[in-house]
Amino acid sequence: MRIAFIGLGNMGSPMALNLLRAGHALSVYDLNEHAVRLLVDAGAKSGASPRATVADAEFVVTMLPAAAHVRGVLMGADGVLAGISKGVPIVDSSTIDPASVREFAVLAQKQGNLFVDAPVSGGTGGAAAGTLTFMVGGTGAAFEKVKPVLEAMGKNIVHCGDVGTGQVAKICNNLVLGITMAGVSEAMSLGVALGIDPNTLADIMNTSTGRCWSSEAYNPYPGVIPAAPSSKEYAGGFGTDLMLKDLGLATDAAKHAKQSVFLGALAQQLYQATSAAGHGRLDFSAVIKLYRHVSG
Ligand code: NAD
Repeated sequence: MRIAFIGLGNMGSPMALNLLRAGHALSVYDLNEHAVRLLVDAGAKSGASPRATVADAEFVVTMLPAAAHVRGVLMGADGVLAGISKGVPIVDSSTIDPASVREFAVLAQKQGNLFVDAPVSGGTGGAAAGTLTFMVGGTGAAFEKVKPVLEAMGKNIVHCGDVGTGQVAKICNNLVLGITMAGVSEAMSLGVALGIDPNTLADIMNTSTGRCWSSEAYNPYPGVIPAAPSSKEYAGGFGTDLMLKDLGLATDAAKHAKQSVFLGALAQQLYQATSAAGHGRLDFSAVIKLYRHVSG
């Protein structure tokens, strides 16, 4: 299939490479020339604008930082909607707010295109391995249409419900993740300050009721999990500023739904403080620096 892929960052680049490996013909676009070059060297062609990139595409995927970037890529004289053929589906895998997704879906539908939200979980490792979870929002028919392409990039392709519900699932998952990472950071820092070895504490937690992904697979205390960003000066992984964005999406959505998110609001402030301390580009497990700094 001829696929246009727009947004070749930490996630988009390995996802696009997996589409190439699966035998699809790719045309790509990104503002970053280096990112485009990497895909062109692997066999993709590049377009001069989003409009040009989707010109002969049978399928479009976008993987951009936030809703403003998706809006910019879709709209305008050089945007995707100006160049796409009728009937071609657009899958947005960025993590953005459900309200923007619904607005984009209406605009796409007006000119005869499907717009499906399909945010992902699994991180950069899952993107490279082709084992991402896709949370898909759209009709049953839309889901069946996009699923075969997503299967080249992911292992679990889940239909969440109508358009926008993929983002609801993603935002709620990251709400839990942001809170548990802060909780594990607090407990690990307290334990070490009180004199226990961090590896012993992590082992106990991981065979006890405190066990969670943040303690077991991605422990924020340096040296506990050799492959985790915490053992590599918090480089790579999922940026603190991206977690901050996702907690902002959760608290905004909660405001509209008149729903309380006590812990989410507090977690948002913790990642805000981490970012303000200059750690926005570090992995989000760097939130532990707040506690380790305080305890000396
Ligand atoms: P990134 O910042 O690494 O990549 C974004 C890419 O978009 C960059 O290459 C940038 O140049 C490009 N871009 C920005 N504006 C553009 C425009 N107008 N036109 C064309 N290209 C443009 O981000 P990422 O880590 O790849 O994340 C992308 C999305 O996936 C985000 O919404 C993020 O929240 C979500 N996500 C990230 C992870 C992760 O572990 N990094 C995991 C799950 C979901």
